[in-house]
Amino acid sequence: MIVEKVSYRSFGIVTKEDLPFHCPPKDASKWNMHPKVFLSFDEKGRANCPYCGTNYRLEQ
Ligand SMILES: [Zn+2]
Repeated sequence: MIVEKVSYRSFGIVTKEDLPFHCPPKDASKWNMHPKVFLSFDEKGRANCPYCGTNYRLEQ
């Protein structure tokens, strides 16, 4: 399942329980450490972190 691994690295799935969502997330590992920033999701449920470039998708 290589494709799933790749998408997992570039996209983070956010559930509504995680809102308000901030990056790095609570369970973040060292590779994406940066000042905590709150992200808002657009109408398609997508957000992009300006610090680490990670894309997040809000689970519907
Ligand atoms: Zn980030």
